[in-house]
Amino acid sequence: MADKKPVKGQSKQKKNKKPSERWKKYKVQGDKVTADKHCPKCGPGNFLGTHKDRLHCGTCGYTEFLKK
Ligand SMILES: [Zn+2]
Repeated sequence: MADKKPVKGQSKQKKNKKPSERWKKYKVQGDKVTADKHCPKCGPGNFLGTHKDRLHCGTCGYTEFLKK
């Protein structure tokens, strides 16, 4: 009698769930880590989206204009 064991984990398809992209906001420059500006209303963790001439928070709508 031969026991046939089913092969485990072969047919399982790994779902590529998108992780938080927060880490993308961090840039490593040399040995320094800089982060994008976060929203003063939403607090740290809510980064402002960078546009050509302004920073915009998609959560509360806060906009900060960049000065030259
Ligand atoms: Zn905000």
